[in-house]
Amino acid sequence: MKTVYFDHAATTPVDERVLEAMTPYFTEHYGNANSPHQLGNNAKVAVEEARETIAEIIGAEPAEIIFTSGGTESDNTAIKGALSATGGSEIITSSLEHHAVLHTSEAMKRNGGKPVYVEADSEGYIDPAKVEEAINDDTALVSLMHVNNEIGTINPLKEISEVCKKHDIPFHSDTVQSVGKIPVDVDELGLDFLSISGHKIYGPKGIGVFYMRHATPWLPWMHGGSQERRRRGGTLNVPGIIGLAKAMELAVDEMEEHKKHFQSLRKRLIAGLDGIFGDRYQINGDKENGVPHIINIAFLDPQGDGLDGEMLLLNLDVEGICVSNGSACTSGAMEPSHVLEGIGLNNKTANSSIRLSLGKDNTAEEIDYFLEKIELVVNRMMSTAEA
Ligand SMILES: *Cc1c(COP(=O)(O)O)cnc(C)c1O
Repeated sequence: MKTVYFDHAATTPVDERVLEAMTPYFTEHYGNANSPHQLGNNAKVAVEEARETIAEIIGAEPAEIIFTSGGTESDNTAIKGALSATGGSEIITSSLEHHAVLHTSEAMKRNGGKPVYVEADSEGYIDPAKVEEAINDDTALVSLMHVNNEIGTINPLKEISEVCKKHDIPFHSDTVQSVGKIPVDVDELGLDFLSISGHKIYGPKGIGVFYMRHATPWLPWMHGGSQERRRRGGTLNVPGIIGLAKAMELAVDEMEEHKKHFQSLRKRLIAGLDGIFGDRYQINGDKENGVPHIINIAFLDPQGDGLDGEMLLLNLDVEGICVSNGSACTSGAMEPSHVLEGIGLNNKTANSSIRLSLGKDNTAEEIDYFLEKIELVVNRMMSTAEA
């Protein structure tokens, strides 16, 4: 059976060109980048080149780039590092963030931290004015993502950063879903910290970047050796770093081409869904201005109740189609996605939703295959629901 993969916001395959760049660093150039000999030096030179490449892509200085194990660690690094360095205790964020930000912020309660949630509108946007209202003398950090991983909404980071600057509050953004998809420049967006992950952009898993603007109050939380100028202990993941730099280079070089491809696939998908379902489905989030490759869809049965999204996902899986939903199964009961809940969807609609996240290698034929199967599956589920 063929596999149709529409879950690129969860992870992507490693691009062959990335793998090729990485391979010698597993075998031939296996040195520890901190070792004082030739093998170590070979690795170090390659790492510093990768650091320069990445810094240039996001408009940073190489010394402002710290390699981490991925998006989750970078988010932890921003929140924990800012909280321990500034006098403040409040972390201004939103309930639409990735769990790497949400759960880290919640965990900071044990250290006297206090998460403060700014509400999003029904399309997932954070209003900079609301951020400003939430800022006070106890604010340690504002952390708001760039592109939402479930609904694709693009937050107005530039406007939010202006508010932060005005009040002298450090600003972190989880840019895991925006890097390589839309332009990300730390000065343009006014960021003090950002998080990047390799495996969302056809790089390897377990590697990421934490960007830290020079002179921003911040303390390390991962202690160990003197790597990364004592800001992040641990032997450098040399092949991962080489792979991440290559993946970022490719993603940025091919960004426009991919964007056009996603726009055309999205158009085909929506035209198909309109034809099959009419008003028995809806797109969650911003329908026009989000990133084109993330499409979050709720299916509504004729009574207006939602379909069982979990069952829908399983039925599609049987047909070889991989999609996702943001809901979590906690103690046997379905919890709606915190993002869909955060934009005000009721439980039924939220639980009837699935997310498609397209990748560069998806084809029009795969969209057509999805449309054929979704029609079968949803109609079958609706007739069972009526019976
Ligand atoms: C995937 C993802 C993360 C986590 O990145 P990892 O490298 O898997 O730890 C964080 N934030 C967002 C928005 C993500 O999509």
